Parts: sequence; C-alpha cells; structure tokens
Amino acid sequence: MALTLPAHPDPLAERIHASGLLQELAHGLGGGFHYLLPERFDANLAAFRTALTEAGVSGKVYFAKKANKAAAFIERCARAGAGVDVASPGELREALGHGVRGEDLVVTGPAKAEALLRVAALQGALVAVDSLDELERVLHLDTPRPVRILLRRFPPAQPGSRFGLDDDQLDAALPRCASAGARVRMEGFSFHLSGYEVQPRTDLAGELVELCLKARALGLQADRISIGGGFAVDYVPAGSWERFLSDQGPDDYHGGKAFTAGDFYPYHSPVAGPDALRAILAARPGGAGDPLAQRLREAGVMLLLEPGRALLDRAGSSVFPVQGVKDRAGYGILTVDGTSLSLSEQWFNSEYLPEPLLLPRSPGEDAEEFRACVGGASCLDSDLLSRRKIAFPARPRPGDLLVYPNTAGYQMDSNESPFHELPLPPKVVIDHPDGSVRPRWRLDR
Ligand SMILES: *Cc1c(COP(=O)(O)O)cnc(C)c1O
Repeated sequence: MALTLPAHPDPLAERIHASGLLQELAHGLGGGFHYLLPERFDANLAAFRTALTEAGVSGKVYFAKKANKAAAFIERCARAGAGVDVASPGELREALGHGVRGEDLVVTGPAKAEALLRVAALQGALVAVDSLDELERVLHLDTPRPVRILLRRFPPAQPGSRFGLDDDQLDAALPRCASAGARVRMEGFSFHLSGYEVQPRTDLAGELVELCLKARALGLQADRISIGGGFAVDYVPAGSWERFLSDQGPDDYHGGKAFTAGDFYPYHSPVAGPDALRAILAARPGGAGDPLAQRLREAGVMLLLEPGRALLDRAGSSVFPVQGVKDRAGYGILTVDGTSLSLSEQWFNSEYLPEPLLLPRSPGEDAEEFRACVGGASCLDSDLLSRRKIAFPARPRPGDLLVYPNTAGYQMDSNESPFHELPLPPKVVIDHPDGSVRPRWRLDR
C-alpha cells in the first residue's frame, strides 16, 4: 500500500478548491501562487486570547512576523489590537506601515543595529535586550522618553543557544537598569525556546516570575514576561503520522534518500497551538507548587507570547500548475511552475510532508493511482518540492494544479528568491465578505 500523509480535512479549503477559483487565478496570474485566508488568522488569534482569558491570566499576543511576509496578517493584527514581534528594520517598517502601533511591537533578535534600536525606542516599542553590550547601547540612545525593555534570559535547558543573558549577566543588568533612571523602563524578562515541549516553557516562565520579584525589589517595573513562540501546529492525524514514520524508507523518495523521524518537523502534535498555551499555564513550574497561571496572577505578572507558525495554522496554501510529467522506473517525475524555494522545509535537508492535492484541470478517464515526486522549474537537480513519491489518485497532466496545504507558516516565503529570474509567486488574499459562500480575492498589499 502506498504511503500517504494527507493534511487534516479542511472544509473551507475544500470549498475554495471546488469553486474553480484556483484554476481561474492560475490562468489570470500566469503561474503558481500562494493563497492566504486571513479569517483563519483571526480565529487562531482569538483562540490564543481565549486560552489566556480562561486561565484568568492577563496577557498579550504578538505575531512573530518572520513566519510570513504577507501584509494581510499584519493588517489583521492592527485591526485586532494584537502585537507584532519584529526583528529587522524592514519588519518594523512593515508593521508600522500597516497600522500596528509602535507600543504594540516587540523587537527581538540578537545585537540589534543602532538604527533599529533608535526607531524602536522612538516608537515606544518594547525591546528584548539580548546582551550586556546591547543594554549599554540602549542606555546611550538618548531618546526623549524611556526605552521600554525586556531582558532576554539565556535558556539553561538549551545550553547550545546563542541567545540571552546568563545568571551573572542578569545580575549585572538589573542594577545597571536601576541606576539608569529615566533612560530605561525595565518591564520584565523574555525567552524563546526552540522545540515544542510544554514543561521547559513552564519551568523557565516560573523562573522569570521570580526574577520579576527580584527586579521589583530594586525599584524596577518588571511586571511582564514573554515566553516567545514555539506553539506546535498539528498538520496531520496521529494514525497516519505514526504509520508514515514507521513505514517510510529510502524507496519512498526519489534518489533513494534516507530520512529518519528526527529529520522531519513533528507534523502531528497531540497538543498544539492554543492548547499548548493552556498546557503551559496549567503546568507547575519545576513540577511542583501552584500552576503557572496562578503564580502569574499572584505576582501580578502579565504573560506575553510570540506565536508565529501557530497563528498561521491553515491560513494559507501554495498552488503550482503542473508543467510536465515524465516517467522513471516505477514512478513519475512532475515538474511544476514554481520552485522548492517556495517550500522552505526542502532547504533544511528535510521534506514538507503534508501531501499536495491534485486538482485536475478537467475530469480524467484514467483514474489509476500514480506515484510521482515533484520537481521545480529550475536547473538544480536538488530542486524538489517533494522528493517523496506521492501517491496521486490519477496521472497528473500539464495544467492540473498541485495544492500544498497549510504552507503559510515558514514554508511559502521564508526562502523565496527570484532564482532563474522566475517571478516570485504572488500572494492572493481570499476572504468571504459578510459570511458569503462565494470566495472573493485580491492581491496582497
Ligand atoms: C521565531 C521566533 C518566534 C516564533 O516562533 P514560532 O515557532 O513560529 O512560534 C517567537 N519569538 C522569537 C524571539 C523568535 O525568534
């Protein structure tokens, strides 16, 4: 039996796929494109906020902008009064330009350039300070009002991290902030952990609550902590994921490439998105005592979070027209109008596994399963959108569309470049005004 790994069923996407709109767009735009569903972003944001409210925790959600470059999502943040996490002058400009207020920005990233720090300070953004020398640069900005800062904590559980201040550095930073007077407003602490585990986040958050109390004793404001991002997205059902991991092998990939489970993003997560936040708040720091939510409430500490991927769950997909179909021993090679640069996972020696849907241009007679890998329209042998020999329900034909599902988080545009002078796939924003069934579209920005 062929190895399959379809994404969770998505009725909204299915309706759009059945409407004929995607074929029309591929024709009108002359090639591949990404489509975005901002209504999904709104729903994800609302679900994170609900998780905070249910836990009785005061908090604020900042969208980590690096997960997608579209303006549409920033516009939704501006409307909803959500924050945005930016890490470059370009991201900062984009956020401000689409209506996000300076005070709703948090600026992360290591050793931020002077110009970025200055604009952030002038706009009243919150700056996550990553090192002692950065703190000194912040203190010497000489801006008319105090610079709002968080001190980023080095995560002891991830000793390989290059981010944050360790214990000794924090011990030096706190009195430095206290003696800097009105130049700085030390609002609290932050961290960002890689991976998706709950308990390490709860543990470190609990530690930051204690640090807030310590900082307050020095007269600092210290009334909020940011736990960063890293809320998993659940792309595929548990059963098919387990079956896939146990059954997959080199024969399933073009070129006989061998992958182990650890090479892949965990495409199934039993606890994902807002549920991961619920779990973090319900867990006990250090495994004992009161749950994190209660410690936050009692200490009067506000919880900031910076989800990227999880706010984009099911908020976009990537569409590529089939350009050619050829045969190899036992399988086929599709070439699409697009490149693997629009599917970033491929550039981390990994594979984007939720499988593409085939939308035939017209109903075919030949409905026999056809296994094929998917190549891009470039001259690189390694330019494969799927090395995996996907089991399509029929032999694809030029003009058919492949829809890679759920690509808005980090896949569609993180690595895109106009390689070969191929145009970047445009982003099409699809919505349903006033709850109408008929989808409406516009180009992003
Ligand atoms: C990348 C990043 C995020 C977002 O991470 P996700 O896994 O997309 O939720 C949040 N905060 C910081 C500081 C980051 O670097």
